Amino acid sequence: MSAHFIDHEYIENLLEDAKHSGDSAVIRSLDKAERMETLTHREIATLLVNDNPDHLERMFRIAGEIKRRIYGNRIVIFAPLYVSNFCVNRCAYCSFNHRHDFGRRKLTMDEVREEVKVLERMGHKRLALEAGEHDGECPIDYILDCIKTIYSMKFENGEIRRINVNIAATTTENYRRLKQAGIGTYILFQETYDEPVYNRVHIAGPKKDFVYHLTAFDRALEAGLDDVGGGVLFGLADPYFDVLGLMIHNEHLERKYNTGFHTISVPRICPAAGMNIADFPNLVDDAIFAKIVAIIRIAVPFTGMILSTRENHVMRKQLLELGISQISAGSSTGVGGYAQREKNETITPQFLANDDRIALSVIAELMDDGYLPSFCTACYRSGRTGDRFMSLAKTGQIGNVCLPNALMTLCEYAMDYGDDAFRKKAAAVITNEIPTIANEHIRRRTAENVEKISSGAGRDFFV
Ligand code: SAM
Ligand code: SF4
Repeated sequence: MSAHFIDHEYIENLLEDAKHSGDSAVIRSLDKAERMETLTHREIATLLVNDNPDHLERMFRIAGEIKRRIYGNRIVIFAPLYVSNFCVNRCAYCSFNHRHDFGRRKLTMDEVREEVKVLERMGHKRLALEAGEHDGECPIDYILDCIKTIYSMKFENGEIRRINVNIAATTTENYRRLKQAGIGTYILFQETYDEPVYNRVHIAGPKKDFVYHLTAFDRALEAGLDDVGGGVLFGLADPYFDVLGLMIHNEHLERKYNTGFHTISVPRICPAAGMNIADFPNLVDDAIFAKIVAIIRIAVPFTGMILSTRENHVMRKQLLELGISQISAGSSTGVGGYAQREKNETITPQFLANDDRIALSVIAELMDDGYLPSFCTACYRSGRTGDRFMSLAKTGQIGNVCLPNALMTLCEYAMDYGDDAFRKKAAAVITNEIPTIANEHIRRRTAENVEKISSGAGRDFFV
């Protein structure tokens, strides 16, 4: 196996030892988690292998408490935008893999504008730009053109204020150019930290190079991109091994660059055209998946956790309580999917989503469940990224800064996109939160805005 910061044998030994660590070790780890102390690898492994229902119940409670203490009830909303499905790689799990024969395409800049209009009409302010890897059809210049086009658009009251980018591992120079283009988080899933499995499922193409993929964030951070988002594709390898891999990767970045993952995504493999899900022997069931989400929340309390429409809304609801802080809504996972959905046409999605509700329904349901949907992108716009964001989070300031912003952006969303019922619901949710705003002036302004949403005033009023 190649030399790098993921020591395969070390992780295997951690998991093997944890199986014999006994009840008292689980209790001690949970005690530490409750005090929000940093857990060692051994302690995380102990929690991962534990199946005792009483300990699990306590673990879920602690994860929920940590989540509420740090993030309150805010949930950040985003949507993916697929711009190109050309791909030279052969990832065994993905419908865009090079061997799968289907009508491939990439969006023209006019088509990018069409997609963004639909997304802005849904009220989205934050996108994750997605593409396959293909230097000929989809070079970095094309990605940069897409970013420029999207940021330059303003349609009715809509505007995309933050573009996160999920494209293949690339060079330091290309990361520097992405930084100059003003992207938010650079997202890349390691897929799995288990190198032999990684080599098996990545059959051919540049992505097959485990070390190049693993060191992508080192290059990104060296290029000045300070928000990076990791993730693994659960279902490829032993999920416990991969959680420990994520934690070790995070520590490597913290040690070397003073900033760990800004977010962690937790995708699970979904069925997709051109692959057979039965070929994957490590699929993760709902119970283990919930345990994993809770343990990640406990182990890295200040790292945002992202869930996509790969999960159905029942699962999403449970995972929001355990630690998820960002979800996608109203997503399409195909190139040109938003405009085509409006015309009732079909496309080849990257995988089959499990939550196909429209964004407004997802957002209304979040409020019914006691959450505060947030469209805020202020941190990024005021330069609070990397370690500056982390120090905001670690000093407990997220609540003071993010809560007013979440309330303000929900007001704006209700005004621009909500019907009467939605506005009423949003007004009630916001009113409920007003007493918790620390700043008197912001408290008063938020109350004034609520009155105006309730009376259905035009948007110009905004204070
Ligand atoms: N092409 C780039 C890459 O692979 O890194 C980035 C974009 S790719 C569109 C985004 C992610 O989709 C991949 O990292 C992979 O984890 C995920 N994905 C691919 N096939 C999937 C499937 N069948 N189910 C769930 N997620 C899948
Ligand atoms: Fe291409 Fe990414 Fe799909 Fe792999 S996961 S086939 S690199 S689009």
